[in-house]
Amino acid sequence: MIKYVPDLTDIVLEEIPGRVTLAVEISNCRGSCIGCHSPFLKKDIGEELTPKVIDKLIGDNFGVNCFLLLGEGQDLEALLRIAAHLREQHPGIERAVYSGRSEVEPAIYEAFDYVKVGPYIAECGPLNEPTTNQRLYYHGEDITFRFWHKGLDPNR
Ligand code: SF4
Repeated sequence: MIKYVPDLTDIVLEEIPGRVTLAVEISNCRGSCIGCHSPFLKKDIGEELTPKVIDKLIGDNFGVNCFLLLGEGQDLEALLRIAAHLREQHPGIERAVYSGRSEVEPAIYEAFDYVKVGPYIAECGPLNEPTTNQRLYYHGEDITFRFWHKGLDPNR
């Protein structure tokens, strides 16, 4: 089961370059980042992110073109089922996941259009710092640099 924290669901513009993204915060984080910015997400909190919930969230937020899971939880099969549901029922919406691990299973890269990997390390900074250890991949291509060119078209 994958759980999310309903109150933290939001539309974001910067997490995925060039996309209007509906982002959900996933609990049961398996990461162990030193200086974790959201330790409450390591707990078993929130509500199950079911296909019905996903359909409602997307229906309530017309115009988004990306669905982002901020976290991957601890149930890989359930995570892949969510990606499959999005692909089958919402083909116009791209799928994205942020992982706190340095590497993830190949099945995650296959299931999601965007995959962010890498723990949060305070001295390296987040994705929008050129010193970051984190990486964002789009269909296997490292597009992390898009966060570093403020003012440029992020689709380039
Ligand atoms: S990925 Fe790291 S920073 Fe994010 S909630 Fe998990 S432990 Fe904390």
